[in-house]
Amino acid sequence: MATVLVVEDDEYVRSAIIQELSRRRHAVRSAGRALDALREITQHPPDAVILDLGLPDLDGSEALKMVRSVSSVPVIVATARDDEAEIVRLLQAGADDYLVKPFSGDHLNARLEAVLRRARPAGPSKVVRAGGLAVDLDRREATVDGVPLTLTRREFDLLAYLAARADRVVSRKELLAEVWQQSYGDDQTIDVHLSWLRRKLGESASAPRYLHTVRGVGVMLVTPR
Ligand code: CA
Repeated sequence: MATVLVVEDDEYVRSAIIQELSRRRHAVRSAGRALDALREITQHPPDAVILDLGLPDLDGSEALKMVRSVSSVPVIVATARDDEAEIVRLLQAGADDYLVKPFSGDHLNARLEAVLRRARPAGPSKVVRAGGLAVDLDRREATVDGVPLTLTRREFDLLAYLAARADRVVSRKELLAEVWQQSYGDDQTIDVHLSWLRRKLGESASAPRYLHTVRGVGVMLVTPR
């Protein structure tokens, strides 16, 4: 299910499209003029826009340009005539796809599903890897050599921050500011958490695999060779 904004001044066409999209369980909003559409897009950002090119207040390509100036939402332009030069121009101006009127409900849905699919972020979640370490930032899970780690919230944040900056020294000051959100603090706080984290990673300060202390500078998560 997606939220779709239908921009169409012809009431008959508009209600037909709304009916079709609602039937497929999409949440539908609509506008009859380009300027109303722009307000809708900024106030209730939709997942996709169906944009009629023959609107009473603005020329279709002007309307598209204005949409693009405020949003990167997928836009399918609907045009009454099959004018190839015009369609090419609109695709170059930022339209994601087009439909030539009259179009069927199935055709509309196929195009809509395709732009929605392309707009979704690739992959289920963002995972940072360093050697055998994998840190899933969205699910807040970490594994080392495939074995899940049981981490406290702070340990996870510390590990995720360092893993995202693997092989670069991160200062204690930066860790305090970014992981602890403190502008000053005790180095011991970081050392204690590092030592717990090392234990969970199966290593120690004297024989580190991932977490290396760089004396007087900070900490570096090293990708094992
Ligand atoms: Ca129209």
